[in-house]
Amino acid sequence: MSEAFDLIVIGAGSGGVRAARVAATYGARVAIIEEYRVGGTCVIRGCVPKKLFVYASRFSDMFEIAGSFGWTVDARFDWPTLVANKDKEIARLEAAYVAALEKRGVGVIRDRAILTGSNSVELVKSGRVLEAKTILLATGGHPYIPDIPGKELGITSNEAFHLEKLPHSILIEGGGYVAVEFATVFAGLGVDTTIVYRGDCVLRGFDADLRQGVSVGLQERGIRLIYETNVRRLRKSGDDIVVSFSDEVDAPFGAVMFATGRNANVSGYGLDVAGVALTPGGHIAVDEYSRTSNPAIYAVGDVTGRSQLTPVAIREGAAFAETAFNNNPVAVDHSMIGTAVFSEPEVASIGLTEAEATTHGDIDVYLTRFRPMINTLSTKSERMMLKLVTLANGGMVLGCHILGPSAAEMIQLVAIPIGMGATKADFDRAMAMHPTAGEELVTFKTPTYRYRGGVKV
Ligand code: NDP
Repeated sequence: MSEAFDLIVIGAGSGGVRAARVAATYGARVAIIEEYRVGGTCVIRGCVPKKLFVYASRFSDMFEIAGSFGWTVDARFDWPTLVANKDKEIARLEAAYVAALEKRGVGVIRDRAILTGSNSVELVKSGRVLEAKTILLATGGHPYIPDIPGKELGITSNEAFHLEKLPHSILIEGGGYVAVEFATVFAGLGVDTTIVYRGDCVLRGFDADLRQGVSVGLQERGIRLIYETNVRRLRKSGDDIVVSFSDEVDAPFGAVMFATGRNANVSGYGLDVAGVALTPGGHIAVDEYSRTSNPAIYAVGDVTGRSQLTPVAIREGAAFAETAFNNNPVAVDHSMIGTAVFSEPEVASIGLTEAEATTHGDIDVYLTRFRPMINTLSTKSERMMLKLVTLANGGMVLGCHILGPSAAEMIQLVAIPIGMGATKADFDRAMAMHPTAGEELVTFKTPTYRYRGGVKV
């Protein structure tokens, strides 16, 4: 005997939860099925606990400069306290997510769903069969681990949130968001931290000056960066893990973490049975309305590989509900997405990098580097950077890139004028607020340098 719904959502992460809630407000009878915890990667083992850990790690910076402001601090750190308080907050958020779903009449089912056709799923634990006119796949992703000997000795970000104790040292492989953020966290909490990355500078895809700046900033915090090198093999030696690197060097570490990207959760959901096609990269292929190759089945969030960012998944979930349940087709614009890396120094960006912009005609670059005011009383020499990339002669702002304190908060706000097509002249009209770092963005007088015909002048 099957149970009938208007919408079945598989996966209660950011995208799935938003879609379920919005569809329910349009009167749809909705079931959401989750095999782990409600909230998904972002809430349970991603953005939220990560940011809490980042806050914890930043105290060490504050303690370092506190003396210059007259304070004497006797600071000690207790990892189990942080983990327990983080777990309490995550449990509170999960309960709030469930309550918000149930308030709108969404049925929350703790099970694993497998597609048995275009309009039906079977639940693995209970054996229940559910049917719906529409099915949404929001199954997210999982950390990818390179297939090397001893890989089972390493951890990923999933486990990093639940370590019983901090290791004395850690090697993190990868040069992306997770690698840089967790290196910041571990180093800030006193762990001897090394990043090994196969490329020549962390954060590939970001503006070159940001990449360079964060690379220097990480090293100033004592993080060792090993570039153009891979991990070949791991083996246990006492309490340590001995890492064999591709340059034939072996070295012991207290822990090894893989931050080598994420793969979409597409296996074991019956996608082939339901005729849901994948992209060559292994994500679920969707059109601009998040419809898969099966017109009754949609997909949003990380599993579609369009952008692995929580707010994008949320936007895609809401747009799906508008399209499928409010007769109002909405396509999400993925073209101008701001993004931040909560490392130390913090990195945030929107729009074109300088290198990308040079292919868009004549451009001007406004760049400033200075010591943030909070460091001026201390011996800390770290500098922050703000960069505006515009079309030539006061034209449209194409990109903004910031390194340093509150970079993410600043980029969130400049995302509004830049998304509206603001020009350099529009920025200039804004009155500066003093003393702030952000005032630099509205007080640039002349370009720091220009590109004419693709050539730097
Ligand atoms: P990223 O894609 O950002 O980085 C993966 C890194 O691993 C890259 O440096 C990549 O190198 C490297 N890599 C991939 N495969 C291998 C391999 N086989 N051997 C060695 N190195 C390898 O993934 P993350 O896991 O860091 O993050 C996943 C996504 O989650 C991000 O892209 C982001 O969208 C999101 N995220 C967002 C955050 C935020 O908004 N603050 C925080 C954390 C995650 P290469 O550069 O050469 O490809």
